[in-house]
Amino acid sequence: MAEPKSFRCVTCGREFPPWSVDYFCPRCGFPAGNLEVRYALGRGGLDFPDPEGVGLWRYAALLPVGAEHAVRLRAGGTPLYPCPELAEAFGLRGLWLKDDTLQPTGSCKDRGTAVAVAVARRLGRTALSCASTGNAASSLAGFCAAGGLPCYIFVPKHAPAPKVAQLVAFGARVFRVDGTYDQAFALALAASQEFGWYNRSDGLNPMVVEGNKTVAFEIWEELGDVPEAVVVAVGDGAVIAGVCKGFLELREGGWAARVPRVFGVQAEGAAAVAHAFARYRRGEPILPAEEPAQTLADSICVGKPADVVKAVRYVAETGGGYVTVRDPELLAAAQELARRAGVFAEPSGAAPYAALQRLVREGQLGPRDRVVLVLTGSGLKDPQGVTRGLPEPPLIPPDLRAVREGVERCG
Ligand SMILES: *Cc1c(COP(=O)(O)O)cnc(C)c1O
Ligand SMILES: [Zn+2]
Repeated sequence: MAEPKSFRCVTCGREFPPWSVDYFCPRCGFPAGNLEVRYALGRGGLDFPDPEGVGLWRYAALLPVGAEHAVRLRAGGTPLYPCPELAEAFGLRGLWLKDDTLQPTGSCKDRGTAVAVAVARRLGRTALSCASTGNAASSLAGFCAAGGLPCYIFVPKHAPAPKVAQLVAFGARVFRVDGTYDQAFALALAASQEFGWYNRSDGLNPMVVEGNKTVAFEIWEELGDVPEAVVVAVGDGAVIAGVCKGFLELREGGWAARVPRVFGVQAEGAAAVAHAFARYRRGEPILPAEEPAQTLADSICVGKPADVVKAVRYVAETGGGYVTVRDPELLAAAQELARRAGVFAEPSGAAPYAALQRLVREGQLGPRDRVVLVLTGSGLKDPQGVTRGLPEPPLIPPDLRAVREGVERCG
């Protein structure tokens, strides 16, 4: 592991001794005072990547905690599928799908959870908590089940049933909050302070970004280079912050000569980070944002993004940007990705595929670019959401004639 040099406030820059604060700078508050974990990076003598490391612990040399504190579920190490035929269809030099739907609980959240839970154990915390639109919750519930730790979960009333089913199966203490995700988030924070739980909520806990950055390390290691662009869906901004931080650390430590442009995708109806990015580009400061949020992509339905400062600043540092897409495009992307690539992602997970069409049309990506789409969550998390509008398979009698008729009808 790497012992952090400091935890630094993203707004005022004040540096705190590592582990002296859990979540945010007391002067700037949450979320303006979110913390970033800083290291003294230099490749000399580091066992990075560690060929013996399992899953994301391969990159323990750049993580704030070692594998000895991890619970046994294996996060990270997901496939990176080359898709030459899709690259050609989009007019790109190369296209890869990073399939984070294959994490132990079915979403990218397992990266941040693996590191946050290991940190909780290292620090001797005995109970965990989080607010979530569903995936971070099922992830924390699974890892806590594996580690024998109690966890307290706050989800909005409208969380998809399969995600709630995971929570119940894992034995978490679940509070379904009669309100929005943003309200569940505030309640989880207050309750965690009241009861002393270690809170894994996205954006609040800086360890989540440390876990999330391993997706960048895996892409770099597998390609043997960094691509020209990476595209990822954005709700709170903790996943994209991790993607950017991973590539920025590879450059800072001398493992890579440059960083890819990182593009964030949001739903048009829940685009607070994209709007904050546009204001930042006009020279305005990055302030905590609050907007109404509505989209069928529940995992990115966030109105008060908890990691907005990092999600804006880091993306700007990579030379990337933000794209918004409409709900019908998100739905069509999930269906088309499943049909054309064999990867079944929930609408939020397929959002980068929807954005790719726009980025190519607008000329932001083209024939010189090798592009990686990070697919963040499984379609099994919300099967009815993904298959909306698709015909139901016909019911036939158990005889061959019916099959013959069916084959004649649809080939
Ligand atoms: C959490 C999540 C995201 C976005 O991550 P943020 O850190 O909230 O920006 C995207 N897709 C899926 C499937 C997710 O679960
Ligand atoms: Zn501060």
